[in-house]
Amino acid sequence: MKKAHILGGGPAGLYLALLLRQLDYRVEVWERNPRDNTFGWGVVFSDATVAAFEEPDPAFYAALKRSLRTWENVDIIYRGTLTSVAGNRFSGIARIELLRVLQERCSQLGVVLHFGADITDPSSLRDCDLLVGADGVHSLLRQHYAALFQPQLSLGSNRYIWYGTRAPFGGLTLTFRQRGRDLFMAHSYKYSEELSTFIVEVDQDTWSRLRTLTEEQGRELLEQVFATELRGEPLLSNNSRWIQFTQVHNEHWWAENMVLLGDALHTAHFSIGSGTKLAMEDALALWRTLRDGGDLAAFEAARRPKLERFLEAARTSQKWFETVRERLELEVLPFCYQTMIRSSRLDDDSLRRRDPDFVARYEAYQARTMPP
Ligand SMILES: Cc1cc2nc3c(=O)[nH]c(=O)nc-3n(C[C@H](O)[C@H](O)[C@H](O)COP(=O)(O)OP(=O)(O)OC[C@H]3O[C@@H](n4cnc5c(N)ncnc54)[C@H](O)[C@@H]3O)c2cc1C
Repeated sequence: MKKAHILGGGPAGLYLALLLRQLDYRVEVWERNPRDNTFGWGVVFSDATVAAFEEPDPAFYAALKRSLRTWENVDIIYRGTLTSVAGNRFSGIARIELLRVLQERCSQLGVVLHFGADITDPSSLRDCDLLVGADGVHSLLRQHYAALFQPQLSLGSNRYIWYGTRAPFGGLTLTFRQRGRDLFMAHSYKYSEELSTFIVEVDQDTWSRLRTLTEEQGRELLEQVFATELRGEPLLSNNSRWIQFTQVHNEHWWAENMVLLGDALHTAHFSIGSGTKLAMEDALALWRTLRDGGDLAAFEAARRPKLERFLEAARTSQKWFETVRERLELEVLPFCYQTMIRSSRLDDDSLRRRDPDFVARYEAYQARTMPP
């Protein structure tokens, strides 16, 4: 029987672990956190992503489906006006619930899970057929073998902070709010009956005036700025702090018996809500390659082109949010239209299929305002 060692018990590591059990690997996972401790709030998946989990492990798929909350709309709040765009079906789940479902399935399948195991020297895990670095954006495995993976990291210019709230959001809500010279952008969505994720993003200029605030002062300010949307509910902190988005790129995905997955391998800006999806799809792609008798080179060859297209869309969306100020002259409808097509994953036709009424209203606006 082959032996796989996985560093990191996040979505990528745990999903790969349960899939490898089906290929008759002995699998051990090392995770520094205790079993029920994690950062963050909710994560989202598209319908297509969830559907792809069914074939490889129906039991995991069924357990996941029971925990998902689904919605249809993207709501954009700009200049105080709410515009709903229909046909954007997504599902949300608390990160901690996703990890619980994954851990439970791993245990059922006989994966050995080591919690509270902070690995400081990844070379101690190398004695195996496959060593997987699923240890997140600050991956130690990637760092330790940087000469082999040749990573490049870069920071986005905006700052963002990730909160939760009991304010009742429905679908994904993007709120743009100007206060004096400051510009605040909130990405919020419901992921359980009681809780929503509430990420606030600010540009460099705004940050230059916020940077001296304490964590508490900053939170109070955001509660004032978004008082209407939060409806008096506080922002809930879970180790929340302002950070810059780290873009991760690796020249080489694998080396010898080692491979990187998920955020250790690549990151996708949170504005397209796909980090967890991509991490788990990496695991799926690796499982599929190994199942079909391929090696790590075959995994990279099959997965890389598809992934690059997605990452390009994520970079475009990130840039869009970093330069929103340039579009603040736009009226409500064109601004919302631009917001929807920002990553170029949606175009006029696909948007029309999702919400013909919204596109018709936008076209009517264009016809009204176009010079003769
Ligand atoms: C603000 C924000 C919002 C986001 N929103 C979404 C969203 O809506 N939808 C979505 O799909 N994704 C979202 N993401 C992205 C998502 O959180 C990540 O992309 C996803 O968790 C990646 O999974 P992973 O398994 O690769 O890494 P991680 O989830 O980071 O897991 C890595 C694990 O490795 C462990 N680890 C690291 N180093 C060691 C070590 N030395 N020893 C032992 N254990 C170690 C860590 O404790 C961690 O549990 C968001 C991210 C951010 C920052």
